[in-house]
Amino acid sequence: MEKEKILEIFKSTGALQHGHFRLTSGLHSSEYFQCAKVLQYPQYNELLCGEIARHFFDWKVDVVVAPAIGGIMVGQEVARQMRVRGIFAEREDKTMSLRRGFEVKKGERVLVCEDVVTTGGSVQEVVDLVKAVGGVVVGVGSIVDRSRSPVNFGSQLFALLKMEVPVYEPDSCPLCKEGMPIVKPGSRKVADTPEAGGKR
Ligand code: ZN
Repeated sequence: MEKEKILEIFKSTGALQHGHFRLTSGLHSSEYFQCAKVLQYPQYNELLCGEIARHFFDWKVDVVVAPAIGGIMVGQEVARQMRVRGIFAEREDKTMSLRRGFEVKKGERVLVCEDVVTTGGSVQEVVDLVKAVGGVVVGVGSIVDRSRSPVNFGSQLFALLKMEVPVYEPDSCPLCKEGMPIVKPGSRKVADTPEAGGKR
């Protein structure tokens, strides 16, 4: 799929928004991306995850494992299209675990799926978890890779779209300097007045 086509879907569904945002990290950005906004449409989920399923189709995958919560919709759809099991790992006392009777058997070939790889922390935890129970991680599939420095999971990372999101320290944010109202992602209302110089 062409990058332009993917971006078009992201924009039309509101998954990719332009403006002035305060991210949870405290940094400011002119773009905000919420993958769930696009995945809520089954036809787009099917389309995007189809690319991941096609990429890994001949890799003899036995089971798809996704980190909760963001990865679940992707993992399930990829598994459906690959005709294999789809399970997810979730945090239990801060540790990524397989619960609900989910298991990866020794020697099973595992594809790890995520919606967005940012630092890669959750994916790495799932990779470690799979290896700890004797599974073989054959690759990682993601809709978006927005990591700022390359991540290495010890197997191939396939992402549909590599996104470079501009972020700024509040002190040096050009949008603040323009006096553009800042928005907290996930809400449509203006969070507060621009942070002039970031000093509050
Ligand atoms: Zn700003």
